[in-house]
Parts: sequence; structure tokens; C-alpha cells
Amino acid sequence: MIFHDIVIVGGGLTGLMAAVEAPPGTDVALISKIYPTRSHSGAAQGGFNAAMAEDDSVENHVFDTVKGSDYLGDQDAIETLCSEGPEVIRKLEQMGVPWSRTPEGRPAQRSLGGASFPRACYSADISGHAVLHTLYERALAAGVRIYPEWHLVELLLEEGRLAGLLVYDLATGRLEVVRCRVALLATGGYGRIFRKTTNGHANTGDGTAIAYRAGAVLSDMEFVQFHPTTLYGTNILISEAARGDGGYLRNAAGERFMARYAPQKMELAPRDVVSRSIFQEIKDGRGLGEGYINLDLTHLGADKIHRLLPQVNELAHLYAAVDSSQTPIPIEPAQHYSMGGIRVNRDCETSIPGLLAAGETANVSVHGANRLGGNSLLETVVFGRRAGRRMLEMVKRPMPPRPRVSLERALSNWQANFGVGAPRQSDDSVFAIREDMGRIMTDKVGVFRTGVELKQAMEELAVLRSRYAALRVPAGEHSFNQQLIDHMELGFMLELSEMTAGAAWRRTESRGAHFRIDYPRRNDPDWLHHTLIRRGDDGRPIYEAGTVAFTRFQPQERGY
Ligand SMILES: Cc1cc2nc3c(=O)[nH]c(=O)nc-3n(C[C@H](O)[C@H](O)[C@H](O)COP(=O)(O)OP(=O)(O)OC[C@H]3O[C@@H](n4cnc5c(N)ncnc54)[C@H](O)[C@@H]3O)c2cc1C
Repeated sequence: MIFHDIVIVGGGLTGLMAAVEAPPGTDVALISKIYPTRSHSGAAQGGFNAAMAEDDSVENHVFDTVKGSDYLGDQDAIETLCSEGPEVIRKLEQMGVPWSRTPEGRPAQRSLGGASFPRACYSADISGHAVLHTLYERALAAGVRIYPEWHLVELLLEEGRLAGLLVYDLATGRLEVVRCRVALLATGGYGRIFRKTTNGHANTGDGTAIAYRAGAVLSDMEFVQFHPTTLYGTNILISEAARGDGGYLRNAAGERFMARYAPQKMELAPRDVVSRSIFQEIKDGRGLGEGYINLDLTHLGADKIHRLLPQVNELAHLYAAVDSSQTPIPIEPAQHYSMGGIRVNRDCETSIPGLLAAGETANVSVHGANRLGGNSLLETVVFGRRAGRRMLEMVKRPMPPRPRVSLERALSNWQANFGVGAPRQSDDSVFAIREDMGRIMTDKVGVFRTGVELKQAMEELAVLRSRYAALRVPAGEHSFNQQLIDHMELGFMLELSEMTAGAAWRRTESRGAHFRIDYPRRNDPDWLHHTLIRRGDDGRPIYEAGTVAFTRFQPQERGY
């Protein structure tokens, strides 16, 4: 058994930001299933929103975010996000983040969708990478104990509070029990439940599913963001920075079709609006090839592209054989971000005492029904820091009881699933089930949804759960058992898929990224509330309504 005062699960921006908040000498451990610097945060390109410029304001940022959220975001949390943003950006600068600069030497800021001001601080188009590496170096210097390639398997609760974690060490193939005074889940999103996604392979929603199984409340799982511009075919992200820095979207006739859907904001309307517009163009026969649209950067010129968008240019070249200064890039929308997650308050506390959550795995509801570009990276560092601070207060409490009953139960679950002699009823494959799940989610729980298709998705996902339960399981007692990891991750994803489809089927209105063809209007009288989900005694999800926090802004029609 291992002891640490503070345990952080997840080595992305959220986990590392929380870790570096602790003064040197604090006993902090960071567990990560992939090496921290490979965390998905490192793929983020566009930037971190913060109202830094003299003629911008926190109030503008709050309003843009509330409107972007289609009034479902909690305004108290949004105020926290926006008001702490500038200070956190400056702190990152002091830590050594190489922000791109204005000629006067200030952090440069670019436009991203749904913002009324160029507000995203960036490092060319490798913003996530630059900050992740800076924070990682800081964490090493501060003596944070890092456990790479350790997988959280289960949370151990004793007397109703978190008492420890059951973790699988990939290298040795052994289970370890980690006791702690307080733990933070910073395990990222679950985009991999969709076949077409910009998310990396590790984004399987482990922390969200594990917390739910342990009794934590989840919220707003129906709200899934589809990014308008991913490379056609591979779904590699082409950052919103490409449109922020002047790129155009054109249909087969070469027309800038966004004039039809968002005449004021054009290409820089929020992502839900742009994704729907692209699909509408394709549906109406104005797409190219078998269903794509062009992102045109040719008018920007090679110099500007190489200076501001080097990664975009390289990705287009490597994966679509396109020189973006000469030829438009073929793009299509794909899943990008999970707005839903573990319900937390502004101090990142979940409904389980002793357990915090932050970043994409959590839902503090700063994004509501639709996230604005640049607000997620800001969320990781603002709420990562808040989680770190809260843990420093909580760590003064006595050590929770030693996990006994919970540990016995967790070990017997493990033995039943992965132990030597565990049942082997079916030769079905993890990959076949995973492929079917991704297809169902992309085809029936995507940008345009209907009650009929969502119901079908729920029924088909139930069949997949039965196939999963009968699956041949890989014994867990040898090192680098990747098959076992694939098996566990699929279990998490099936659970999250079911809740995403279930919550989407229940919400009979359209709001933000959740668009129901059969209920195309927003319906505030009936639906201006969060969807809360908890696990019933029979293991099935129970859906309830949760109140939205309002401070300054009352709902208005959302036009761009
Ligand atoms: C391609 C791309 C570009 C993006 N660009 C932007 C942008 O420009 N601006 C913006 O605001 N947002 C952007 N986003 C969104 C943003 O990058 C993410 O929401 C954010 O980085 C998530 O950070 P995180 O710390 O919550 O999780 P992650 O960075 O995903 O880290 C999750 C961590 O959890 C660990 N983990 C997971 N499961 C387990 C387990 N079972 N046991 C142990 N460890 C586990 C992983 O090892 C990893 O270290 C982008 C997203 C993508 C996909």
C-alpha cells in the first residue's frame, strides 16, 4: 500500500496545474495512464482566452461565454473562469511559457469563434504543447512524485468518503492500492466514444465513468461539441486559429456560405453553428466530393501561414497532401469536446467527500450547451489551480479510514473480470464492439439528432453492453497487458455512450450543440436546466433536473 497526502490522477494541463500549486515539500503524487507530456492537452493549438487587452473586459468575456453556452452555463462559474483568466495567463508567463508576442512585447491574442474580441493567448499553433511542457518542468522541479503508465481502475470509498484508489501498473501488471487524504480526477474527455473524433486514443473517459460507478453525480452528458474543421477522412483537427487568422469556408461553388447562416460573425460564429451550416451545405448538394467543404487559406499567403499556422500547414501537407498556401484544405466536422462530465462546484468538489474533479472530465458548467474555442484551455489552468488550492486546505484533515470493505469488493470484481480463470464465454472482440459503438454514436448521436434515431442508438448500445459482458477477458497478471487496458476502457466508454444518448433522447429541445430535428427550437420554460445523472441501485442511470445559476444575464435569442 502506498501513501500520499494528495493524489492527482491525470497529467494533462489540469493535473499539472493543480500539482504545481502546492509549495515545495508537500507530498503530491501524480498518476497518469500515459506519460504526462503525451496527454491530450499537448495537441491543443488555438489558445487560452483571457480578457487582457485594455479595450477588452472580463464582462465581455463573461457575456460571450454565457451566450455561447446558449444560457445553460452557470454564470457564477463563468465569472470565476473569466475573472481569474488574466492573472493565470500572467502566472504562466512568469513560469516560462513562451507566448507569441505583439510588436510591443505583450502576449499576442487571436480571434476564435463566438468571441467579440481577439482574446486567445497563444504560442503559434502549439499552445497546449508549450504550456504542458512548462508545467511539467515545474512539477519535476517541485518534487511531485510521478507514476507514469499507472491506470486508475476504481475509487475506494469507506464510510461514505474517498479513502484510496485501486491502480493498475502497466509495466509490472500489478494492482496497487494508493491511500490519500484527498484526490483530484483530471482524466480528460471521452471523445473516443465517437468514430469520427479529433481526440487521441487515451480519451476514453475513464475518470468520468469510474466516478459515476463510485456514486458521483454527472451532468449535461447530451452536450457534445463537433468541431467544424477536421481533415476530411482522418479527422485530425485543423485549428479554429486558421479561421481566426483569416481563413474562409467555401462550398463547391467557391461561395463563402457562412453569409447564409451567420452574416455578422461569418466563419467565426460558434462551433455548433458552423458545424450545422457545413452539414446543411453538404445535405443541400453544395458540398464537394463525397461530402466535404473547403477551408481556404490561399489568400493569406505563405509568409503568414508559416508564421502563425505552421502546424496547420504541416498537418494539411502530411495527411492531405495539400500545400495550404496554394490549395484549399478539405474538411468535415467531427466530435471534439465533451461538455458533460462529473458535476462539481467552483472549488472542484464532487458529490463524493474527499474527491475533486477538474478539466474536461468535470462539469463545473462554464461551457453549458456549447463551448467557445479557447475556453477549455483556460478552464484547465483556472480550475486546475483552484483544485490545487482547495486540496491544500483539505489536506489538513486526518487520513480517512483504511480501505477494507471497498478494497475487498474491488479486488473480487477484478478477479471476476480479469483474474486467472475468469469466465471466457465469447470470442467477440473489443475492437469489433468499439467500432460498432463509434459508428452508432457518430451516425445517430451526432450533429443532427432525432428521437427515433436516439432511441435506436440506445437499443443498439444495450446490445453492445450484452456483447461486452460476454466478452473473452484477458488475464491481468502480466506486464504491458494492453489488451486488458483496451477491455477496461471499452467498459467505461459503453457506459458513457449510454448516458450521452439517453440524456440526448430525453432533452426534447435544441440548445447549443444539441440539435433535435424533431424539436428545432430552444424551449426555456421546460428545459432551461441541467441534466443530472446518478447511478441507481440497479446500476442503471437515473436522470434528474438541476438548477442553472444566473447572475447578470437573462436568456435572449442567440443570433450571430
Ligand atoms: C486537437 C485538439 C485541439 C484543442 N485545442 C484547443 C484550444 O486551442 N483551446 C482550447 O481552449 N481547447 C482546446 N482543446 C480542448 C482542450 O485541449 C482539452 O479540453 C484540455 O486540454 C483537456 O485537458 P485535461 O487536463 O482536462 O485532460 P488531458 O490533457 O486529456 O489529460 C488527461 C490525463 O488523464 C490521464 N488519465 C486518463 N485516464 C486515466 C486513468 N484511468 N488512469 C490514470 N490516468 C488517466 C491521461 O494520462 C492524461 O494525462 C483541444 C482539443 C483537441 C482534441
